[in-house]
Amino acid sequence: MDHPNFAVVAEDLVKVYGRGTSGVRALDHVSVGFERGRFTAIMGPSGSGKSSLLHCLAGLDTVTSGRVLVGGTDITTLSDRALTALRRDRIGFVFQSFNLLPQLTAERNITLPLDLAGRKADRLRLQLVVDVLGLADRLGHRPAELSGGQQQRVALARALVTKPDVVFADEPTGNLDSRSGAEVLSLLRASVSEFGQTVVMVTHDPEAAARADRVVLVADGRIVEDLRKPSAAALRSSRPSAGVR
Ligand code: ADP
Ligand code: MG
Repeated sequence: MDHPNFAVVAEDLVKVYGRGTSGVRALDHVSVGFERGRFTAIMGPSGSGKSSLLHCLAGLDTVTSGRVLVGGTDITTLSDRALTALRRDRIGFVFQSFNLLPQLTAERNITLPLDLAGRKADRLRLQLVVDVLGLADRLGHRPAELSGGQQQRVALARALVTKPDVVFADEPTGNLDSRSGAEVLSLLRASVSEFGQTVVMVTHDPEAAARADRVVLVADGRIVEDLRKPSAAALRSSRPSAGVR
């Protein structure tokens, strides 16, 4: 699967937390590739390994065995320093809890990854992202002065501004009311359709997953189904935990 059409590839990924008899196998030999310019949802019940998979794919956590290729580079063998640089340049991450710095304005939060790297934001890119996300008149506000939906849009802008190879989002609508959640989903969708961005989103919500081009169903640390453009109704009726065994 070492193919240029894939932004991210996981090969035979195993993640075990702890060791010995008390060890928890969160990922059990997962192999999956994510094509460029696609919106993929990873769906599954609580505890099925979704966050573990996303964290391993994004280099936020170490793997027990297997490889993760980001743009062809195996990130599991990089030094801390090289991994930090690769994450900064090529990976965007949106957390359920936004993870914004309260003392910084929206604009400073958005450009923070660049500021930390000592780089200047590409003003055109910044403007485009801010306009598409509808944040132009909120740039001077601090997170506490923004709604949840606006805060998540700032987090999304921060993930998009560096033009990463891939944006990962872990339950990005989990802390939002349904209207703000729908808005964030539409913006993720637009970043794929309008910017050609690659997006991999974890969700347990069939309605959210149905906005994606592809839905990968996870149960007990394994991929149990891989669906193209399923409807929310089809996703609601599929129960992966009761499936393949
Ligand atoms: P999901 O995101 O699908 O809810 P997770 O990836 O968070 O699932 O968790 C998968 C399994 O790994 C669960 O059994 C969970 O309890 C366990 N797990 C997750 N993180 C840790 C951790 N840091 N230490 C120990 N076990 C963990
Ligand atoms: Mg999770």
